[in-house]
Amino acid sequence: MDLLELTIKDTIEALKDKTFSCLELTKETFSNIKKNDKKINAFLTLDEENALKQAKEYDDLIKEDAQIFDKKPLLGVPVAVKDLFTTEGIRTTAGSKIIGDYIPPFNSTVIKKLLAAGAIITGKTNQDAWGHGSSGENTDYEPTKNPYDLTRVPGGSSSGSGAAVAYGASLVGTGTDTGSSVRLPAGFCNLVGLKPTYGRVSRYGIIAMASSFDTIGHMTKTVYDNAKVLEVTAGVDPYDSTTVPEKVGSYTKVLGQSIKGLKIGLPKEYFVEGLDKKIDESIRNSLQVFEKLGATIQEISLPYTDYAMAAYYILVPSEVSSNLSRFDGVRYGKAREVFGAEAKRRIMLGSYTLSSGYYDAYYLKAAKVRTLIKQDFEKAFEKVDVIVAPTSPTLPFKIGEKTDDPLAMYLSDIFLCPVNLAGIPGLSIQSGFVDDLPVGMQLMGPQFSEELLYKTAYLFEKETEYYKIHPKFKNG
Ligand code: GLN
Repeated sequence: MDLLELTIKDTIEALKDKTFSCLELTKETFSNIKKNDKKINAFLTLDEENALKQAKEYDDLIKEDAQIFDKKPLLGVPVAVKDLFTTEGIRTTAGSKIIGDYIPPFNSTVIKKLLAAGAIITGKTNQDAWGHGSSGENTDYEPTKNPYDLTRVPGGSSSGSGAAVAYGASLVGTGTDTGSSVRLPAGFCNLVGLKPTYGRVSRYGIIAMASSFDTIGHMTKTVYDNAKVLEVTAGVDPYDSTTVPEKVGSYTKVLGQSIKGLKIGLPKEYFVEGLDKKIDESIRNSLQVFEKLGATIQEISLPYTDYAMAAYYILVPSEVSSNLSRFDGVRYGKAREVFGAEAKRRIMLGSYTLSSGYYDAYYLKAAKVRTLIKQDFEKAFEKVDVIVAPTSPTLPFKIGEKTDDPLAMYLSDIFLCPVNLAGIPGLSIQSGFVDDLPVGMQLMGPQFSEELLYKTAYLFEKETEYYKIHPKFKNG
């Protein structure tokens, strides 16, 4: 088996046909991790013993029960879990040394669902501490490298999950997306990454960053694989009152349906100075593929885009300062001094924007801007079905390039965080390569339009097959 090529779809078929066993796949996965993770640093903790035990049990189940794949749709699928997800009995650090030795007594809902569906956890992945960042460099455990070029970042904050899937160390990488953190690593690592509608997937048991923004998504190599995982993770959870009783879509069933007549909007505010010319070109080439598939393209406007970053960097630190206040060194974790520079910056900023006398001027104003941004999208979706934009204005950048300039780092998310402000879904898919580096393209839709996004992305992927281009560990 070639782990770089393998998808969830292939794996299930191979397990059914007995081309390989769960145990063989699991062993091969860990031998890949042992060989390559020293270079990539995607994992903080491995769970090999449990994984092998689980795999053996599943091999027995396959022998005993011919229907097992209907009951456990992700049977034997190796999953790399972002270290923000609590995992029973497995160390969970949030990428921070504050809780560097925390072993949770329970599983987050998404982990429970993945395990019930037969997925096998390979380990916990590196990330920007608490989810603060766009490159993975804000980790307390040494940054993850991009498997396509080891001198570059894999995107953050779910950096380890993205890199792990890209180098074949798992078939799914779980992530959280508060402003970009699933879509950016997907874009930088040549993967498919979904930020679902706010409320589509339970956040119970996931260490909170900014609660009115946080969503739980995942990265995979292909659109089919991504849709398959969402079928498992989506849905109402009594433990998370923000989940919505909207029917879970048939995400894999709609794949292959025609997109003839689909109206695609191109926001003029996203194609401006600061966008790498070659990325612009890549996206425009991809639009021609959509046209060939029967879609029509029109320019649209999202007039409040300019204010999105400012609103995001007032609202998010406000919520961050509130959520992180529980790590006061008294009840949980280590002393506050152990917080990294970025967490400290956000705690200070958020405490300021929420303080009396400043609350109206900053927090309340930003909350109003948020509504305007949401309305921008609502108006746009009266004219078009889907909005397309680049995932990032730049290619994966060099490690260290933006660490001294928080503002430059924040701007990596300029096309992504408006989606979180509005609570709508965004799907980053592969748009090809520029200078041997992956380019991501984002599809945005109205709330709960995940089926439409997947169906649109699937036909595009069938035409282009960029997921077949694998990393070569350049500069390794
Ligand atoms: N890069 C953004 C931030 O640092 C988003 C991070 C995320 O989605 N977790 O706030």
